[in-house]
Amino acid sequence: MTTYAPMTAAPVPNFIGGKWEHPEVEGFHAVHNPSTGEVIGQTPLCGAKEVEAAAQAAANAFPDWARTPAPKRAEILFRFRALLEAHSEELSRLVTRENGKTLEEARGDVQRGKEVVEFACGIPHLLKGESLPQIAPQIDALTTREPIGVCAGITPFNFPAMVPMWMFPIALACGNTFILKPSEKVPLTACRLGELLQEAGLPDGVFNLVQGGREVVDALCAHPGIAALSFVGSSPVARHVYTLGCQHGKRVQAAGGAKNVLLVMPDAEPDTTLRAILGSAFGCAGQRCMAGSVLMGVGENADAVRDRVIGAIETLKVEDTSAHDDAEMGPVIDAGAQARIIKDIAHAAGEGALLARDGRAKAPPRGFFVGPTLLDNVTPEMAVFQTEVFGPVLAMLRPKTLDEAIQMMSRLPYGNGATLFTSSGAAARLFTREMPCGMIGINVGVPAPMALFPFAGWNSSFFGDLHVQGMEGVQFYTRQKVVLSRWDSAYRRVQGW
Ligand code: NAD
Repeated sequence: MTTYAPMTAAPVPNFIGGKWEHPEVEGFHAVHNPSTGEVIGQTPLCGAKEVEAAAQAAANAFPDWARTPAPKRAEILFRFRALLEAHSEELSRLVTRENGKTLEEARGDVQRGKEVVEFACGIPHLLKGESLPQIAPQIDALTTREPIGVCAGITPFNFPAMVPMWMFPIALACGNTFILKPSEKVPLTACRLGELLQEAGLPDGVFNLVQGGREVVDALCAHPGIAALSFVGSSPVARHVYTLGCQHGKRVQAAGGAKNVLLVMPDAEPDTTLRAILGSAFGCAGQRCMAGSVLMGVGENADAVRDRVIGAIETLKVEDTSAHDDAEMGPVIDAGAQARIIKDIAHAAGEGALLARDGRAKAPPRGFFVGPTLLDNVTPEMAVFQTEVFGPVLAMLRPKTLDEAIQMMSRLPYGNGATLFTSSGAAARLFTREMPCGMIGINVGVPAPMALFPFAGWNSSFFGDLHVQGMEGVQFYTRQKVVLSRWDSAYRRVQGW
């Protein structure tokens, strides 16, 4: 088997019905190494034809896979998990190469995905139903969890390994078959995951890959043979996928963008708080849906918080991550993102924000870099507060009290994460209860739940009912059957005993 980690700008294949194939398409999206700008692959922009082929292959594979005993399905996932472990360094370097995040961050990307596989390996236990014997005279009741059919996943560029693995390990473990449409910006890691699934012994057609952009997404949303859609990406597209998928009668979970707050109380422990702010705001160059992008310094210590953050930013090593394993911050994904972020910084300055640290000119000249930026004196009316920048830009506000801070945060349209840095249990309790978002951190910079828990976005950060990961993931990818049985004494007479 060839390892799909091309050093050239070769076209990237689809994986349909157990075969790697190059579709005939008119357009391609160039895949870059964001650290250098070099083109390293070409994503074919597929459409309804390739979706039809994948849906057919997945539907053909479904009956046998759904009938395969859950422990046997888990055996394949255990083998897949071992392969992920054996190839984790290679996968991490591939993530760095096509996404630009640092090697350390890429290792985290693979590790977090692997943890979902580990969760899915427990599927024989997770699928167990409920029962109540003698729910009525001589009648027993039990429930079973059944797979729902062909499921599809549509993923963003920022976690090439983890986000696809939020979805397909649980879907497959539950007995579904799957079509993954990775981001056209980072298709290579997804191909390698497909190869490892094949090597783990997954039957043909159970997992399929279709490359491309919006045409593939719209075809997946409309295809009558697809039962469920999992989406992760920006809020406008999440809303679109949710609406279109629901119109076509599908189950949809669609996670969107975010604006996450880091709130520092005067009694916060300074060193751990500083490290957490830096990691949250500038880790993955700010391209995390749980990145802290709003900093609030409450009360008199706001100046001290700002000065310490600026001091720490100056020491961050912003470098070509594919050449420097110890780089501390990498580039953003592409030239479009770079231009958009630079424009957002200028716009914020035009609206009256103070450029306390302007990263626009302070970055390597090659590749798609924006240096870490801190905007001070931001107000809730400014666009940089209301909208997602998705880059290494931290917007600072200065509420006088915790109550005022919570009021400001309640004006955000998103609802992913918020963190409070404090040594007060009472402040932590108030914050936890009052914040209108789904993932709360207390002295934790990136309160992203691990595989056992749902990734619980609210408001414009999530459309649907059941989130990815944890038991909500199992519920999303299954439907329940309730069985009532009557074996009363009449059957003794029929059988003559
Ligand atoms: P994106 O919305 O541009 O793309 C996501 C997917 O949708 C890709 O596969 C892309 O091909 C497809 N797509 C893009 N535009 C489309 C359109 N008009 N119609 C149909 N499909 C379309 O997102 P991105 O830039 O790849 O990723 C960054 C975004 O993802 C950020 O907003 C980030 O906050 C969000 N994100 C959210 C979570 C979460 O759990 N809430 C996790 C990771 C990333």
